[in-house]
Amino acid sequence: MSFKPPKGTYDLTSPQSQAWRDVLLVWEDMSAVFGYPLVATPILEATELFERGVGGTSEVVTKQMYTFSDKGGRSVTLRPEGTAGVVRAYLNSGAQGAWKGAYSGPFFRYERPQAGRTRQFWQVGAEYIGVEGAIADAEIIELGYRFITQAGVDQVELRINSIGDPECRPPYVTALRSYLEEIKGDLSGESVGLIETNPLRILDSKTDRDRLGNPPRMIDSLCADCAAHYEQVKAFLDSLGIPYVEDPRLVRGLDYYTRTAFEYIGTGLDSAQNAVGGGGRYDGLATTLGGPQTPGVGFALGLDRILLASGLDGYTHLDAYLVSEMGPEEAFLVASQLRADGVRLDFDAEGRSVKAQFKTARRLEAPVILVYKGADLPIDVQTADGRADVPIDQVAEHVMDYVLELL
Ligand code: AMP
Repeated sequence: MSFKPPKGTYDLTSPQSQAWRDVLLVWEDMSAVFGYPLVATPILEATELFERGVGGTSEVVTKQMYTFSDKGGRSVTLRPEGTAGVVRAYLNSGAQGAWKGAYSGPFFRYERPQAGRTRQFWQVGAEYIGVEGAIADAEIIELGYRFITQAGVDQVELRINSIGDPECRPPYVTALRSYLEEIKGDLSGESVGLIETNPLRILDSKTDRDRLGNPPRMIDSLCADCAAHYEQVKAFLDSLGIPYVEDPRLVRGLDYYTRTAFEYIGTGLDSAQNAVGGGGRYDGLATTLGGPQTPGVGFALGLDRILLASGLDGYTHLDAYLVSEMGPEEAFLVASQLRADGVRLDFDAEGRSVKAQFKTARRLEAPVILVYKGADLPIDVQTADGRADVPIDQVAEHVMDYVLELL
């Protein structure tokens, strides 16, 4: 019998998983540098959290959730996104004032699988809660941008927009709706179906992009506070030297966004799935979840797409490979000592020939090969630069120096 992973899911194994792990390490490091501690929430949540938090008209909620009853008859859902859960965790924690969290993990959406779109996918994300000012938006945007570029994506375009707030958006939506009613003969059935329920979504419809003409723009209808906020976000980005493109048609798929909306586009990727991530401000979300009015801003980035865009295809996870002329039992003890000293190391446990061990070392692309010749003898350290006999207690330092120089 053979089992395959369920449709739209995949197994992640080496060598791809090496690049994956490296990018996650960049994320751990970068989010810590910006002062975002880890936040981890359950993969399974009450369905209502997403219905209320993400919004009943969004495609994610209406079409894409993995929802089922557990054995106690409760309706639960595999999380399709991270923000609602994090804001729930923030509210439950009783924290007040400025609060930050960074997360990473699997998310689930029942979508039509294609390149860069799967039913289980991995996101990293950050949320900055409790701060109303534009400095929080700019910091969040900067964190995402620095992470994406540090992860090796060199063709990234930041797009930003403001989608207003509950004061200025409703009159704009009314104006947009009347405009769309007038041109609805030109639009796809899907878009026509959205005119009543969620007309903003039509603005970023891939099918109808070129048929929309000149719809009214949210940025022309912002109230004074939203307009000032938007100008400040742009001014902060300018002063950080982060390039961006204003995109008046950028809206986000999830209902909870207010004011700032942004997306990072991997311009080197196929245009159908080139959004590596996005986010925005969600000042109304906490109250939707039954909490006090609390501002917040955050993003989620798709790790799968970041890896596609970075072109990283996995490289060795080893510093060194240990070749033993004395059999596997002694190698096991030597390996243990070197690993305790921090060398990322592997060796052959099956007693294969020295020639076969060298072959494995080369296949694994270990930058250093360590040849163990016997107790009390120095280790023969072989690199592209040459060889050296090194006493075992100095091998780790020797290997680390060499590997660091390679970086
Ligand atoms: P969203 O929560 O829809 O804004 O998604 C944020 C990012 O997560 C997207 O830009 C993608 O990079 C990634 N993403 C969302 N859905 C999927 C999916 N089905 N498969 C792979 N990546 C996804």
